[in-house]
Amino acid sequence: MNSFDVIVIGGGPAGCAMALDLNRRGYNVALCDQAKFPRDKVCGEFISPGADPILKQLGVLDSIETLTPKRLKGVAISSYESEELEIDYPPSINTGLRPTSLSVPRYQLDALFLQQVQSAGVEVFEQHKVTDFLFDNGGVAGVQGWDENKTAFALNSKLVVDAGGRNAISLRKFSLKQEPKGNTKIAFSAHWQGVRLPDDYCYMHVSRPGYTGISSVGNDRTNVVLVVDRSALGGERDGSVEKPEEFYHRVLMKNSLRSNILQGGERVEPVRSVESLAFAVRPVPCGGLILVGDAMGFIDPFTGEGIYLSLRSSQIAGEVIHASFQSSNFSRNSLSVYDARREDEFGGKFVLSRVLQWLIYNQPFCNRVMKSLSSNQVLAETLAGVIGDILPAKNVVSMKFLTQLVVGAFKGNSDLKKAFDLTR
Ligand SMILES: Cc1cc2nc3c(=O)[nH]c(=O)nc-3n(C[C@H](O)[C@H](O)[C@H](O)COP(=O)(O)OP(=O)(O)OC[C@H]3O[C@@H](n4cnc5c(N)ncnc54)[C@H](O)[C@@H]3O)c2cc1C
Repeated sequence: MNSFDVIVIGGGPAGCAMALDLNRRGYNVALCDQAKFPRDKVCGEFISPGADPILKQLGVLDSIETLTPKRLKGVAISSYESEELEIDYPPSINTGLRPTSLSVPRYQLDALFLQQVQSAGVEVFEQHKVTDFLFDNGGVAGVQGWDENKTAFALNSKLVVDAGGRNAISLRKFSLKQEPKGNTKIAFSAHWQGVRLPDDYCYMHVSRPGYTGISSVGNDRTNVVLVVDRSALGGERDGSVEKPEEFYHRVLMKNSLRSNILQGGERVEPVRSVESLAFAVRPVPCGGLILVGDAMGFIDPFTGEGIYLSLRSSQIAGEVIHASFQSSNFSRNSLSVYDARREDEFGGKFVLSRVLQWLIYNQPFCNRVMKSLSSNQVLAETLAGVIGDILPAKNVVSMKFLTQLVVGAFKGNSDLKKAFDLTR
């Protein structure tokens, strides 16, 4: 049986970043993905500017630039059909220049990333679905599954990194997923051509029954993502159930700002959909296993930072894994340093995401926040800086900042207080 230092499950941004990081540290790494690349993915496709230095360090940024992606200046937000407010990322403290965010189709990005992993010397097994773990002394010590010919395979390793995304095998095997009660969200996406966007921003339109993110991904392609409560779907219209594509177009065009932007364009591919509910993850119960990327928890895509979190979590995991190899200790206790560091770094972002979620689905509060942002550029750019992962979350996850944001909306509102609860 083939044996490796580390096996990575999943060839998305988290898995590729993990494999490259460990390969550079000199480890013998294998990566398995059930898909054949290129494969597509429902995603807003804009990457926080905070990801640029990580992509550069991994040696993939220059190759990504050859895809001629779009570079976005920030976000333009509209609340319930109010005029869009354009918010730029704040200037960098070091250079004084305003950073931009990459916007590039996942179909291209993920395939390119995986190619780089393979060229670096990682053994890549495409169309290899991991269905279970191998154990040694109660700790994970490899994986097994099926390849594209339905032939069984098994690989040994000292450590496994699960970067399998929101449906990662670890989440099912160890029942780790914690889903909040409430309406399931569903996301629809498709690329369009011929769309004339007013400027280089990601256009976020919040209105009933959900929100959209519209941004150019370069090469006359625009990505149009719609996120709604599942309950908004499935109504009978004229005696027949509305098809997802009809629903997507009807809801997009119902908002006058969106229809203005999209009216000259046309959709150039089928509408894809995915369940899009945020979830948290319980700690892994055994040694030999670490979770990175969406497998370690998913925040609502409104703030569009899943790719950054995937890259950054892999960076942190790389340091912890390296320390574990040095001490030959892959126990749960040794690897739990990673959980603590991740919580320390991302906890504030998760709180902010919950607060923003609460706000966007409450029209009066959402309008009030937009008013605060439009009258206070520093406030607006600070928020964009945190969402763009160029400023630490602690800059905004404070009573002072948030109260400024919602001016009084906080007072006496128990639901909002719950959203702010840092201990959850
Ligand atoms: C509607 C929506 C919009 C979004 N918009 C943005 C955005 O604009 N910006 C942003 O940064 N993020 C966005 N995100 C989040 C982003 O898509 C994810 O955070 C990101 O893809 C996570 O990367 P990952 O590598 O963890 O997982 P994935 O990209 O999901 O990759 C997981 C890989 O694992 C493989 N895999 C899974 N299970 C197995 C198995 N058992 N065996 C073998 N292979 C397996 C899969 O085939 C897949 O290739 C959005 C998400 C949604 C739903």
